[in-house]
Amino acid sequence: MKIMTNRMDLGFQKHRDEYEEAALRVLRSGWYILGKEVEAFEEEYASYHGDGFSCAGVANGLDALILGIRALGIGEGDEVIVQGNTYIASVMGASINGATPVFVEPDEHHQIDVSKIEDAITTKTKAVMVVHLYGLICDMDKVVDICRKHSLKLVEDCAQAHGAKWNGRLAGTFGDVGCFSFYPSKNIGAFGDAGACISPDPDLIRKIKVLRNYGSGKRYYNEVVGVNSRLDEMQAALLRVRMKYIDEITSERRDIAAAYDKGITNPDIIKPVQTEGGYAVYHQYVIRSSRRDELIEYLKEKEIGTIIHYPVPPHLQAAYAYLGHHKGDYPICEKYADEVLSIPMYNGMTKEEQDYVIDALNNF
Ligand SMILES: *Cc1c(COP(=O)(O)O)cnc(C)c1O
Repeated sequence: MKIMTNRMDLGFQKHRDEYEEAALRVLRSGWYILGKEVEAFEEEYASYHGDGFSCAGVANGLDALILGIRALGIGEGDEVIVQGNTYIASVMGASINGATPVFVEPDEHHQIDVSKIEDAITTKTKAVMVVHLYGLICDMDKVVDICRKHSLKLVEDCAQAHGAKWNGRLAGTFGDVGCFSFYPSKNIGAFGDAGACISPDPDLIRKIKVLRNYGSGKRYYNEVVGVNSRLDEMQAALLRVRMKYIDEITSERRDIAAAYDKGITNPDIIKPVQTEGGYAVYHQYVIRSSRRDELIEYLKEKEIGTIIHYPVPPHLQAAYAYLGHHKGDYPICEKYADEVLSIPMYNGMTKEEQDYVIDALNNF
């Protein structure tokens, strides 16, 4: 049985008529950038997160982070605390604004180790960024307390965590700004690039809307130097369809994760564990093994696809050589980079496919 790590076609096929209808509606409308669909999506996405939230659609998840951080006034000379085992986009969201990323080791749940955040705070620290990596979530109450105590902004990188919750409250609603990606492989995926910021502060969202469109609030009047990071009507219309099914998407992924949790019993494999109090959405199901590279080859022979999220931690990337970090600086990040492996996890994965993966892992 051939099993890929992800299948992006199945979600489309399941609700094909609705997606096609939305796409045709946009094609026939004669209006393609920042229009009715984007406005409707922004309203719907904000209200999904609760009363009092506002939303700005942007071109992708990285831009959501860049513009969210920029709108908070964070830049040159400032430090942003972020977990060291994240995807590079979290780090670039800070550094592209001129801010310095300060890494913190992850805990055994792959999330920022909350007990180590305060040690990383300096007089230059302006914000803490929490990533909700793999769709899991850390103790957000503790993070909120730390940010309050030290007057720091809280940025949530929710690219992997649409619909995840901490004590019943949605990811993205704890901080000053929640930044989302709708890259096609994300739990809520568009059919191209797309992203969004949400915030309880309407002024911040207004700033992001100005920044995303050349710094203009009113057409051809430019308040600040901005960028072109507009969400298009096609992606917004398709995302409105995808969002109708967020609960279905999440519960299916949680069922697959539960089947893996129960079925995988090989002692050489460490399974992901959500901290109690969290409601994980399993963007990825990430196992760990000290024999990871051998495991990849073994699974490849069985035609089971896997991916490493991520093989090189940001502090050892060439892009961040200027920060002056060395191998050994963040041993947990480095250990995880050598041990993590994402196994197949996608909406539409059959029971037979799940069992095949489980059996293969148990026979390793
Ligand atoms: C995907 C992702 C992003 C960036 O999203 P893009 O839409 O690809 O720019 C940011 N942070 C994390 C954690 C991601 O997984």
